[in-house]
Amino acid sequence: MIHEATGYWIHEAGHQPEFPSVDGDHRFDVLVIGGGFTGLWTAYHLKSREPDLEVALVESHRIGHGPSGRNGGFVDAMWVSFSSLVKRYGDQQALALARASERSVHQVGEFLEHHGVDAWYRLSGYLNVSTAPAWDDSWKENLTAMRAAGISDGPHELSPAQVQEICASPAFRGGVHYGAAATVQPARLAFGIRDAVQSLGVTMFESSPVVRVEDGGPDVMVFTPGGRITASRLVMANGPTLAGAGSPLRANVTLASSHMVITEPVPDVIEQLGWTGGEAISDCRSLLTYFRTTPDGRIAFGWGGGRIAAGSRRFGRAEHDSDVVAGVIAGLKRYFPMLADRRIEYAWGGPIDASATHLPHVVEMPSGRSFAAFGYTGNGVGPSQMVGRALSSLALDQRDEYSKLAFIEPSSALTRVPPEPFRWIGGAMIREAIGRKEEAQLAGRSVDPVSALVARIPALIGFHIGR
Ligand SMILES: Cc1cc2nc3c(=O)[nH]c(=O)nc-3n(C[C@H](O)[C@H](O)[C@H](O)COP(=O)(O)OP(=O)(O)OC[C@H]3O[C@@H](n4cnc5c(N)ncnc54)[C@H](O)[C@@H]3O)c2cc1C
Repeated sequence: MIHEATGYWIHEAGHQPEFPSVDGDHRFDVLVIGGGFTGLWTAYHLKSREPDLEVALVESHRIGHGPSGRNGGFVDAMWVSFSSLVKRYGDQQALALARASERSVHQVGEFLEHHGVDAWYRLSGYLNVSTAPAWDDSWKENLTAMRAAGISDGPHELSPAQVQEICASPAFRGGVHYGAAATVQPARLAFGIRDAVQSLGVTMFESSPVVRVEDGGPDVMVFTPGGRITASRLVMANGPTLAGAGSPLRANVTLASSHMVITEPVPDVIEQLGWTGGEAISDCRSLLTYFRTTPDGRIAFGWGGGRIAAGSRRFGRAEHDSDVVAGVIAGLKRYFPMLADRRIEYAWGGPIDASATHLPHVVEMPSGRSFAAFGYTGNGVGPSQMVGRALSSLALDQRDEYSKLAFIEPSSALTRVPPEPFRWIGGAMIREAIGRKEEAQLAGRSVDPVSALVARIPALIGFHIGR
């Protein structure tokens, strides 16, 4: 097994062109920090809407090589978080957001078709399955919120027999099916957007970490080791590092991590499971496991139970953690025991920027010149396209349906996360406790009272974990 930070998808996508680093002083109309999905989509929509606009994107490492090129490739809408949306924004705004996120799933597919990019896009639906009695009703609150808001079609419950028809894992019980969902090869998607952005005329810099932002004068100034960029508008799409020292949003973001493995081609196992519809599937744990097939017959399997990172440390064990990968492999074999003797070819991981609400937020900074997005909390592939539209509307000062979505909030309205070092130390304790609790639930054992109590702390302090 090859265990590295970047993983299978980036390897599969092949050699990528490199872009120059920032050298000297530059000026642009809009500067985007971060070459992940959020930054790339923002640059794409800016330049598509205003071809004469001078737009640049600056990336600390390689474009598309962060979480955006390494994730599970689930392109989900936000229906799965509908009850959380209702709690924060009310029925009508929640509906507007969920519908925009559903459109986003389709718009990703339309983009790929329009630009002739083969990113393995498959509109195959998403299944959330229970794997222990403790989680049999875990989706009820979400479905009830949808019905109360007048959604009668769309996501629906599946009996254990119906789940087995889709994927016959011996561990699966009942579930819920969300139709507006696709899977992609995420690195191919990221590089496809990058190429489209380049052909539209956006200037791209790599290997240029932004070390300081000055947003006090008439323009925004951004400093990198090789030079300075001045811009009229700034979009901060550097998700995970917004949790770090010096970030204006460090009080609102915390960093967890997720890790994945992918098997050798196992088309016979997929056939045996009857899992031939390409559905993306996850279980109902707070420390979620998620899995999907690929067109070449592999099973990719991930676990959101990676360690909490101190500050904004997105490297180290946030992306390469043998202990967590051992847990991922154990989870894979628990749900798919027929893979016991099959080869796992790659393992990798990456940071997850989590908000206290478990929802993405788009922020207008007090200067009115800078904007940011963060907090996808493991569901950014589909929503980032919609977020890119919203950020481009804000940077262009265009009031439209995207700039009116309720997730655009001033930084003062955001829910705070505990400060460091409590964020990291407390987060690590809570992660351990949730892990023990969920292992007991999976094994049908009673949960020890200390773990049960510590696992409840996030809910008690208003921090949402799980969907
Ligand atoms: C293992 C794993 C599996 C996941 N699975 C899924 C999934 O199946 N579906 C889903 O929806 N989501 C999933 N996610 C989450 C998803 O990948 C993210 O929500 C999404 O990629 C966020 O995109 P982004 O552009 O906001 O951030 P990123 O992809 O993190 O991009 C931010 C970019 O900013 C750059 N940057 C950071 N600091 C600086 C700086 N100072 N200067 C310049 N550049 C900087 C980084 O290098 C990075 O390239 C997963 C994540 C991981 C790690």
